[in-house]
Amino acid sequence: MIRRSPHCYDSVQSPLFFFAILGLTFIKESFAMQDQPQRTILAIGAHCGDMEVTCAAVLAKHKKQGDRVVILHLTLGEGGNPKMSPRAYGEQKRKEAEEAAKVIGAEVLFGSYKDGEVPNNEEARRYIADVIRQVKPTHIITHWKLSIHKDHATTNFIVNDAVLLASLEGVVTDHPRHQGVKGIYFTENWEDAENFKPYLYVDVTDHLMAWKQCVSKYEFIGGGISSFPYLEYYEALARVRGAEAGKRYAVSFDIDQFEKKRVVNFLD
Ligand SMILES: [Zn+2]
Repeated sequence: MIRRSPHCYDSVQSPLFFFAILGLTFIKESFAMQDQPQRTILAIGAHCGDMEVTCAAVLAKHKKQGDRVVILHLTLGEGGNPKMSPRAYGEQKRKEAEEAAKVIGAEVLFGSYKDGEVPNNEEARRYIADVIRQVKPTHIITHWKLSIHKDHATTNFIVNDAVLLASLEGVVTDHPRHQGVKGIYFTENWEDAENFKPYLYVDVTDHLMAWKQCVSKYEFIGGGISSFPYLEYYEALARVRGAEAGKRYAVSFDIDQFEKKRVVNFLD
């Protein structure tokens, strides 16, 4: 027979045992939670490159955090190269988009629409709604509503409507409804500047290098296709937003006016 010290608890009765069980349960639940990413970010852009130049640093940060990141390009943006046919440039941009997504660990999807012809119709809304139902995002990022490019403005309209359609039981697509979208965030894009007001700032100081590596997969970033200095502009913008946010680099988003409404008991 084994003699016990009077201060030695039977392991089954020990409070330490219960704390250990509680701890194990917590760890088990934590692992279970890790199986499902905390967030799924779905970024929907009109053209390959739009989401990456404006917010790949944020996407990279979320991916590193363990979140799932998916980019949907509605068109390839194949019309933007005066030296190549849309078909050839489209093929190039598809490959560039795949490589860019790989850099930040994002999944990539392509719509079937043509550059300059993103349709403001029911079919496009239902297509995006069905993507939302499959991807099940918690957060959606897309274009701001006022733009010099009609594809960007149209994308804003149809994405907003698609989030609603995706949530409605009565709207029939190939997949069941999804009601888990917590917010829609609009990117700061030089083409979509009218009335855009930075509202939410995300610190991307440690992710600017990933952004640069990601967007550099696109030839148009280097200045050979477009005269717009994409790399310099967006790096400088990140520095400006960073300064405003008290960080080194930041990326800003706007949200709908209605979502800015706050209700409080007292002034805080
Ligand atoms: Zn675009």
